Amino acid sequence: MTSTSSVGIVGGGPAGAELARRLAEAQIECVLFEAQPEREKPCGGGLSPRTRAVIPAHLQKIIHGKSVYHVISASPSGKQISIQLSEPITIVSRREFDQGLRQAALSAGARIVHRKVLSIKRRKGLFVLDDREQFPILVGAGGFNCIVARTFAGALPVWDLAAAVGYYLDADYAAEIRLKFGKNLIGYMWFFPGPSIVSAGIAEPAPIFQHYAAEGKLREFIQHAASHLPVGRRYTWALPSLCADTFDSRPIAGDGWLLIGDAAGLCDPITGEGIAYAFKSAALAAEAIICKDLRIFPQKLRSEITGNLQRAAILKDRFYRSRFLDWGHYAVRKSARAREACRLFMEGKMAYPEFKKYSLLPEVAAQVFHLWRWWKKFRKK
Ligand SMILES: Cc1cc2nc3c(=O)[nH]c(=O)nc-3n(C[C@H](O)[C@H](O)[C@H](O)COP(=O)(O)OP(=O)(O)OC[C@H]3O[C@@H](n4cnc5c(N)ncnc54)[C@H](O)[C@@H]3O)c2cc1C
Repeated sequence: MTSTSSVGIVGGGPAGAELARRLAEAQIECVLFEAQPEREKPCGGGLSPRTRAVIPAHLQKIIHGKSVYHVISASPSGKQISIQLSEPITIVSRREFDQGLRQAALSAGARIVHRKVLSIKRRKGLFVLDDREQFPILVGAGGFNCIVARTFAGALPVWDLAAAVGYYLDADYAAEIRLKFGKNLIGYMWFFPGPSIVSAGIAEPAPIFQHYAAEGKLREFIQHAASHLPVGRRYTWALPSLCADTFDSRPIAGDGWLLIGDAAGLCDPITGEGIAYAFKSAALAAEAIICKDLRIFPQKLRSEITGNLQRAAILKDRFYRSRFLDWGHYAVRKSARAREACRLFMEGKMAYPEFKKYSLLPEVAAQVFHLWRWWKKFRKK
């Protein structure tokens, strides 16, 4: 026997839980499926000021974490910079954060089923899950390997993924975030001090990711940054890191179905952040479902989210060039303007198209002029 509700949502992470809450508040009957409600996710858990700003005011109370105002970053050749943020990055436990979001959905009236959805069929215009529940509308919010996305849009190919390996260090660590870029590393290593554990990891494009080598680099980084901390559980995971073309070619909605969050590939290809996009895409999906017009979802997603991510995908290779990163770290040390741009970037307050505003050409021109004057004086002598 199958039961029918209006909307089925597969995946109870930030994207799915937020959508369920919004629909329930709009009196739309929905069922949220979550396979692993107790799991601590392999995620840095970093909520930048930009991410916190997209979380609705009445949900802010579920954000319990460590507020970090200080980021130390090292370039491939070892140049180190220290950035003081004006607003903190809050680092949360993803288990507690996601549970809080699901609790908010439950309180609003959503139904939550703790089960892994294993099959999807279409029958008489309805989506039938595991031959048990059926829905006229189905939303995929199950992360990068979501069953709804695999069924209707196709699995993300390896070139649209990044791979990560990391460790949880069971310790209360000094409140600073550490980042390390490396030669021949199209990604970065991180040290995110959470409320009770530190998440340390390394991520790179999946096609070139070599576990053994990546883990070696990460261990070296941990040894250097905090050799006194005990290395705990290891995790490996993948996250979407879409190529620029994929944002145009991969469908994110169709007849009665749509994808949100990581399932739609909405993760920043440079930084790997996705929680803000999970919230934003959930809000857009709720709007489309409430208006009973799913066609507006892909249009709005394109104008409000994917433009910025596509820009990041285009810039990615250049961003991770050793020369650019070394020069960038040097510029941040020398120029107040570059430091300001770096701070805004880390706080998530600068979209990629705005990078141009912070062109360092005036600084470079001033340096060249200074050198030229010095050279003229030197020749006169
Ligand atoms: C190592 C790493 C570090 C990261 N660090 C950050 C960071 O610091 N800041 C940031 O903003 N982003 C970060 N991200 C990205 C962030 O984790 C994701 O973008 C975000 O979790 C996406 O939310 P989501 O709800 O779309 O998917 P998810 O959080 O992945 O949630 C999907 C949910 O669906 C459930 N599910 C999957 N399949 C099924 C099924 N068949 N049936 C039922 N349930 C199912 C899963 O159990 C899961 O709970 C990081 C990612 C990684 C891998």
